[in-house]
Amino acid sequence: MAQMLIDGQLADSASGKTIEVRDPATGDVVGSIPRGDARDVDAAVAAARRAFPKWASTAAQNRAQLLFKAAARVREAVPEIAKLLTLEQGKTLRESTIEAGRVAANLEYYAGLADKIRGDYVVLEDHNSFGLTIRRPVGVVAAITPWNFPLTLMANKICPALAAGCTVVLKPASTTPLATQRCVEAINGAGLPAGVLNTVHGSGAEIGDALTGHAGVNKIAFTGQTETGKNIMRLAAQHVTRVTLELGGSDPCIVCDDADLEKAARGVAIGRFFNAGQACLAVKRLYVFGSVAEQFMQLIAARAQKLKVGNGMSEGAMMGPLHTEAQRAQVEAQVADSVGRGARVLAGGKRPEGKEFDKGWFMEPTVLADVPEDSRMITEEVFGPALPVVIVRDLDEAIEKANASVYGLGSSIWTRDLAKARRAAEQIEAGYTWVNAIQVAHDELPFGGTKESGFGKEHGLEALDGYLEKKSVVLSAG
Ligand code: NAD
Repeated sequence: MAQMLIDGQLADSASGKTIEVRDPATGDVVGSIPRGDARDVDAAVAAARRAFPKWASTAAQNRAQLLFKAAARVREAVPEIAKLLTLEQGKTLRESTIEAGRVAANLEYYAGLADKIRGDYVVLEDHNSFGLTIRRPVGVVAAITPWNFPLTLMANKICPALAAGCTVVLKPASTTPLATQRCVEAINGAGLPAGVLNTVHGSGAEIGDALTGHAGVNKIAFTGQTETGKNIMRLAAQHVTRVTLELGGSDPCIVCDDADLEKAARGVAIGRFFNAGQACLAVKRLYVFGSVAEQFMQLIAARAQKLKVGNGMSEGAMMGPLHTEAQRAQVEAQVADSVGRGARVLAGGKRPEGKEFDKGWFMEPTVLADVPEDSRMITEEVFGPALPVVIVRDLDEAIEKANASVYGLGSSIWTRDLAKARRAAEQIEAGYTWVNAIQVAHDELPFGGTKESGFGKEHGLEALDGYLEKKSVVLSAG
């Protein structure tokens, strides 16, 4: 049984109630967490508020040292954390190990930046005075994370927040709290003062409003569905709380006729099927030039068929189950909608057969051709291992179709023509464009969406900026 961390102490919920956590590959209960309510949220926010003044005025060098120490503790615990993540989320142990390691890397990245936060000296018209800008931490941060990459999305928020001098109340998704809580305990054990990092567990529907509408919260850093993000934005308006919203996506990928098709097929297959397709920046719509379309679709289908589906804990599994029954049902309904409108199944399209798949939410990696553009796979986010392919004439048509979405998170293009790459980089409406590269986010580059994919940045120097505010100071000789 995991607990919450409030004011430096592990705690059960005020109600004493709990929530079971299940393994998506078997349906077995693998742990439980406290079912928090508004009382637990109040306690965590109050602790974070009390801890804030001292943490904000702690020398940045000392904050950095604590975060480096925390990174070492997380690294030591990677095998244990990764196992918990696979058990509760379903991804393969290899994917979980990469993800857990990224938390340590993220801690180190922002630990290294903590003592490099600085302001400006500004010359004023009045020579008796001069101006300064100083940068102050924004205050108490509510960090709310989803179930698909619980650890990296936690790290993206708490690492820059702690480095900047903010205190944090973290609410993980109720279906993936165990690895996150273990990570938080490792970080806290590095010697963070009580109340600097807190967790509250529970259902978003039950405690989300108490947290995002709380007068004691100064910033909300949220990753999750666009609908949830809209709700949070409305609630945040009550106290004019600043928000960073990392929301849904339907990333287009363009494959031109001059592309290295083998490399592109590898990139698209990883981009679509990593984490069983449950990635915000997965390749979700594929636009291929007509002259290479059949050849490219065969390459992708062959790669999809070769991916070994299995329990994430098992040796050799390359793709685990989907996270929940509802998640699989949604992707299956989206696939059925396209097939019903005439799409051709090139790979997958069904559940794998066999005893080991009976109790889990498994699905075969799926590739569909001739997908109508008004079908759900094109108009909605497909959060699972199914790729719709659409044939295009040229780059104009590809960019027009790529932009015909309410989302604007990531995007990619495969081409050897620099002019085409440049046009895509400038004209695709998204926060990221990869050129001849796999759609993975890099810690060093700012990441975030446009349109209904949200706003604000994670990663890079820009993420740190999001936890700091610039204050102007005028100093006069008097
Ligand atoms: P979700 O919106 O259902 O839940 C995300 C988190 O919000 C969970 O912790 C949940 O408990 C909490 N929550 C739910 N209702 C709430 C409320 N009313 N107030 C406050 N918190 C609430 O999202 P999900 O299904 O867990 O995640 C999948 C979605 O996340 C996909 O749409 C995916 O594209 C998106 N995502 C985006 C990014 C990005 O960086 N843009 C990254 C990963 C996932």
